[in-house]
Parts: sequence; C-alpha cells; structure tokens
Amino acid sequence: MTDIFTSSKTLVIYETEKITGTHCNEHDVHNRHSLLKGFNQRALEKTRINLIGAGGLGSETGIALVRKGIGELNIYDSDRVDITNLSRQHYFRKDLYKPKAGQLSENLSQMATGKSIIRGVSLMIQEAVDQKKCFDSDIVIVGVDNSETRFYCSEKFKDKPVIFTAVNPEADSGYVFVQEKGGACFGCLFGDQNGRPARKCAGATIDINKVMGGIVSYAVDTLIMRRQRDWNFKQVHFHGPFIDFNKKILKEPECRFC
Ligand SMILES: [Zn+2]
Repeated sequence: MTDIFTSSKTLVIYETEKITGTHCNEHDVHNRHSLLKGFNQRALEKTRINLIGAGGLGSETGIALVRKGIGELNIYDSDRVDITNLSRQHYFRKDLYKPKAGQLSENLSQMATGKSIIRGVSLMIQEAVDQKKCFDSDIVIVGVDNSETRFYCSEKFKDKPVIFTAVNPEADSGYVFVQEKGGACFGCLFGDQNGRPARKCAGATIDINKVMGGIVSYAVDTLIMRRQRDWNFKQVHFHGPFIDFNKKILKEPECRFC
C-alpha cells in the first residue's frame, strides 16, 4: 500500500493488493460473488467510480465497493471530520479535524479485499473539475447533502451513469435514482428542488445510510454486469404507513434540464 501526498495535499492515493489465502486449496477471496447469477468480478475490477460526498452515504457506499473489489474509487469532499460524524460515518478518533476525502480513503484501504486504487480529493467536485483534478470514471455516485451539487453532477456527467442517493431529515426514508444517458435526468424527477438551499445540521443516523449504501452498490452491479434491475428510482421507508416502491421514471418532455 502506498500513501502519496501531492505538494498541495489535496490528493491522497492508496493502492491495495488482493487478499490471498495461505493454503493452496483455499477459495478466492471473491468466491461467494462468483456463485451469484450474473455476477462478473472482472467487470467490477475494471470499473472506475467517482464518489461525490464522503459523509454517511459515501461511507457506506465506499465500504461496499472496496469490499467487493472495485477497480478505482475516487472520493471528492472538501469537508473535515468533526466529532458528530463519528456516530455514523466511517471515521475514527484519529481522523478528527482532518480532510474527509483523505481519511475515508485511508480507512477504506484497510477494508479493501481486491486490487483497488482509492483516491481522496479534498475538494468540492466543482472545484476538482475546475482545477482539472477530477479523474475519469465509468460511473458517478452522488451522496451529497445539497441540490446544487446534484444538479451540477446531473449536467456535468450526463454522458455516463450517475447514481443519486439521499435520505430524509427524519432518517427513516431514502431513495436511489439511476440517471442513464438518454433517460430521465435528475431534473426530470426533482426539477422543483433546483435552487433549494442545503439543509444544515439535519438529524441523521447510521441505519438508513447502511441501507442506501447497499442499494447503490447493487445499482453499480446492474450497470456493469448481468444483475437485474427493473427500476431507476427506488424509495425505502422504515416507518410503516408508507410502502417501499420501485419505479421506472421516464424522461419528462417539459424538463428544463435535459
Ligand atoms: Zn430531464
């Protein structure tokens, strides 16, 4: 594993090695994946992901991806770790007050099971693009807390799949929306959120983040291998009266964003 800081210290890179057994007759570390219908480990190993947001949603998504053996994971976030993050995000005491993107990269490198490149870019995605510090990727995942960045990513990365995920302020519901080239954009679904200010200090717990991270990771699989998904919008409710649902959102003819 290498740990490289650039002179600006906005970029941290970890390269992990695949875990191998000590006995020649042991299974491959990803053996259980290979037993799943349609699972293609090689496709996962070749996939490059840009993960926007290193909070609770980014943490859980990142854990799933590196454990499964993703090829490249580039994490973008300009925030630093504060003490309230430790109850639900993948940080420890040692990470307090340090840039989230770098610390999440370091922590995820400890959980990787395959040969992965994990980069932490301590910038907002808009800054990374402007400064040409945004890496090429096959898929973009957006797990931020503000609509401005969601709309920015929807437009900027419209030529590749973009997976959006968010949770509600009561932390008992969340959604995953998969935007694909030629299909419905984020604005087709959430055009009314354009210009809405970011929520500050909303309530939050780890449980809903874990669920959404798992769904995002599954959605990644469906984009690169033959695992099945008949939705592009999935909403989960923990609280009884509302039912979970899967929908196929169609391109909105009147959409101002696509
Ligand atoms: Zn649209």
